[in-house]
Amino acid sequence: MPTKKITTPVKKAVAKKATPAKKASQKADAGIPLSVVIRKRIQAQKARFHANDNISAFIKPGELEGLVDEVAEKMQAVLESLVIDTDSDHNTKNTSRRVAKMYVQEVFNGRYTEQPTLTKFPNISHLNELMIIGPITVRSACSHHLCPIMGRVWIGVLPNKQSALIGLSKYSRLTEWVMCRPQIQEEAVVELADMLERKIKPIGVAIVMDADHFCMQWRGVKDRDSKMVNSVMRGAFLKDPNLRREFLSLLEKR
Ligand SMILES: [Zn+2]
Repeated sequence: MPTKKITTPVKKAVAKKATPAKKASQKADAGIPLSVVIRKRIQAQKARFHANDNISAFIKPGELEGLVDEVAEKMQAVLESLVIDTDSDHNTKNTSRRVAKMYVQEVFNGRYTEQPTLTKFPNISHLNELMIIGPITVRSACSHHLCPIMGRVWIGVLPNKQSALIGLSKYSRLTEWVMCRPQIQEEAVVELADMLERKIKPIGVAIVMDADHFCMQWRGVKDRDSKMVNSVMRGAFLKDPNLRREFLSLLEKR
């Protein structure tokens, strides 16, 4: 990543717009970039901070604003290195800030915000029938190029008679939270399956994801029709071919 080597531009312009939270963190850490402060906290706990990890536990209230400021500053340097005249080109004048906000507050927001809270319902009627949720719209980006990944996810759950059930909308919220990070499709579905297993403790979980990868359509092979489909089968879905067949056949009808 070339951005790491770029020297930080003059602080003046940013200081003017600083929010109170930013000012406080600047004072406390005398010129140390906020990302370095956060990174140190993560390293002190020996936690991982890959692109698809959630690091919300290491971010204090108000610091996301400061991160937007820092990313905007570095994004501006990228635009300058791309030899784009952001002073006279009105289209790109605020692009660095727009991109920074888009990354931190929108498309990669699943890295910085806490897991959505889940309302759990006791399984009163002791359901243990196959449930299928989907298609859930997926918007993500590949970790390799930060190009969009747009697709759909189906989740199959075979609850245990004792499993706590989560509200249907929560499957979408959890999926969105995992996908709003730079991801690799194969890892994203595994992460989602792990999380659902932990939360619901079902007899089986199955996930199918079908997506367009813009890094194959916009760049690279420029194959407009290439899609990637992959699946994870856990528990009963792995052991019972009939259940697996039932799940997959129901998807085809959608
Ligand atoms: Zn890619």
